[in-house]
Amino acid sequence: MADIYKNYINGEWVDSSSGETFENRNPANHDEVVGIFPKSTQEDADRAIAAAKEAQAKWRLVPAPERGKIMRKVGDLMVQRKEELARLMTREMGKVINETRGDVQEGIDTAYYAEGESRRLFAEAAPSELPNKWAFTTRLPIGVAGIITPWNFPVAIPTWKMFPAITCGNAVVFKPATDTPACGGKLVEIMTEAGVPKGVVNIVYGSGRTVGMRLVEHPDVRAISFTGSSDIGKIINAKGGQQLKRISLELGGKNAQLVMDDANLELALDGVLWGAFGTTGQRCTATSRLLLHKDIHDKFVEMLVERVNKLKLGNGLDESVEVGPLVNEAQQKTIDEYCSIGKEEGAEMVCGGKIPDDPELAKGWFYKPTVFINVKRTMRIFQEEIFGPVLSISKINSFEEGVEHLNDSVYGLSSSIYTQDINNAFRAIRDFQAGITYVNGPTIGAECHFPFGGVKETGNGHREGGWTVYDFFTEWKTIYVDFSGKLQRAQIDNY
Ligand code: NAP
Repeated sequence: MADIYKNYINGEWVDSSSGETFENRNPANHDEVVGIFPKSTQEDADRAIAAAKEAQAKWRLVPAPERGKIMRKVGDLMVQRKEELARLMTREMGKVINETRGDVQEGIDTAYYAEGESRRLFAEAAPSELPNKWAFTTRLPIGVAGIITPWNFPVAIPTWKMFPAITCGNAVVFKPATDTPACGGKLVEIMTEAGVPKGVVNIVYGSGRTVGMRLVEHPDVRAISFTGSSDIGKIINAKGGQQLKRISLELGGKNAQLVMDDANLELALDGVLWGAFGTTGQRCTATSRLLLHKDIHDKFVEMLVERVNKLKLGNGLDESVEVGPLVNEAQQKTIDEYCSIGKEEGAEMVCGGKIPDDPELAKGWFYKPTVFINVKRTMRIFQEEIFGPVLSISKINSFEEGVEHLNDSVYGLSSSIYTQDINNAFRAIRDFQAGITYVNGPTIGAECHFPFGGVKETGNGHREGGWTVYDFFTEWKTIYVDFSGKLQRAQIDNY
């Protein structure tokens, strides 16, 4: 029997006002229904926003370190329920169990980090230009924040947003991705058990167009934190921008790993296998392009194809499986279409490129890990985010050409260089147009206490993670206290 989930609004688990539901199925076995969820309406979103607004008026007055203590409890409960959450996540979106454990761990780290930051919401003071007058700053919450998340990190990404938002004194209305509603529900359950007061956290299930867009359009939601595709991010930016909301956008990527002729090839190989095929290539930071120096190109391709062909596909709950399914049928179709496009464009497919014919995999949305060589910069498989287990390889003649190729993208999230040459490593750090650069590591592997985000069409300049996201969720206030007992006019009486 599938579990039945409800919205959480104003401290109560409730059905959608429409009474309608939707189900979510296991992508490794589409006969298995993971859960049944309310298909919410705009009215449900409105009720959650009203509850959040009312609760935030009180929550903002709770000292931040007290809010932080609740975050520590959230972290403790997540530790206790780590395995349960990881197994649910694998069933819900297919990622292999080791990776879903990592996803939950990132949420745990984010909770404990939030407790620390609750005592570090630093502001600044400086001397006033006038005598007997002090000037300083403080940081205040914004109000109600709308949290809209994708399916590929169903626990980690919501925690990156909700934990800092709540620690800063905001209330949140959370709309999880339709493909991963169960993990979102369990996370909210843990937050309420840890003591997040009623109304401060709300979850409303439903489609992006209905519930997500209502959060963006409602005037009482003053901040939107969105992670997802660049196409939807642009729509949200335009709509929310009409009300001059604060909007954080973490969007697509087309990340590249550059391997120079002096690189440790075994290390670079382990890196690209993890970067390109971990999470079945469905990470915003996935290695989607591989740039190989001409002197090691042929050897490296040979080594790579041998390893790719050995990757074990299957249900991610099996500890020996290395690559799980794609999240849904539409994604499987998209990947297959991109493989046809790659061939039509003249790239050479050296492995994969099809749905596996293994009968054991017949009930899941699997796709064989795929590698293309001779990929040119003009090709769509070089330029477009595929979001699946497809790696496009281009041969480059020099470090400079590698940088040019790497930067030839509308996106700029993650990047990587494998080299033993310290000068090229530092040039890469300086010249790669990306929010993240790894030296001798793959394009994936962010840590929660550092800023995370990208340049160009990957976002709009905000950063999640680290101390920077605490800036996003607070407003600066400047305070002047004049104890001179007379009117002192700045820029006039002192000149
Ligand atoms: P998506 O289709 O853009 O959806 C993301 C979220 O937005 C979902 O909750 C979705 O709801 C909602 N949504 C859809 N249309 C909306 C609308 N008109 N108004 C408001 N909300 C709307 O992205 P996805 O397929 O879930 O995720 C994959 C994308 O996310 C990739 O492009 C990937 O690179 C990106 N991503 C980026 C990062 C990063 O940090 N840069 C991290 C992870 C993923 P429904 O689920 O109901 O459609």
